[in-house]
Amino acid sequence: MKLYLASGNAHKVQELQALAVATMPDARIFSAREVGGMPPVVEDTGTFTGNARKKAHALWELLPHDGWALADDSGICVDALHGAPGVESAYYAGSNSNDGANLAKLVEVMRDVPSGSRGAHYVCVLVLISPEGKEHGFEGKCHGNLLLEPIGIGGFGYDPLFVPSGHDCTFGQLPAATKQQLSHRAQAWSQLVRWRLLHNGV
Ligand code: IMP
Repeated sequence: MKLYLASGNAHKVQELQALAVATMPDARIFSAREVGGMPPVVEDTGTFTGNARKKAHALWELLPHDGWALADDSGICVDALHGAPGVESAYYAGSNSNDGANLAKLVEVMRDVPSGSRGAHYVCVLVLISPEGKEHGFEGKCHGNLLLEPIGIGGFGYDPLFVPSGHDCTFGQLPAATKQQLSHRAQAWSQLVRWRLLHNGV
């Protein structure tokens, strides 16, 4: 299986590659760079699935006849903010924002929210498109709580603020291997692996 990752986000690519290496040894993983780079996609569908489908199709158009496209759309949904920033996670602090500015905005917006009301979950939707153009979707979630201030330098995005349920440290502090077992991306990926096992020979 030649799997092309429909993402320009180096952190996502790195995490998906690590998951693939650990669980899908027969797959050959390529970044979008191999086919000229991830084409620009306007993420305007309002859903993780819709945005992931758009990204997967945009890359699939560029692939060789035996290539599979895999897109990841993900974000963090905060209970006290009625699910925001959600699909807007990458642009929370504005259309030209970056991880640092988005994280700083979330810290500020959540400053007065008390500890019992700081629940949040990450969501990841993976959309896989076969060489023939058949589409398959997989969703993963990871629940936890937000600290008052970021701690740790691991992971990316909102990870230094997010403590996964059952742990005392943020994804910014925990080893990458632990995030790789618990994360929303890992949950969605393990569904994909299970699906592939059920469809022997894919
Ligand atoms: P997307 O590229 O539109 O899917 O937006 C993804 C955004 O969601 C990232 O830029 C981060 O802000 C956030 N995000 C998704 N997954 C993670 C993660 O594993 N850790 C931290 N932030 C994440």
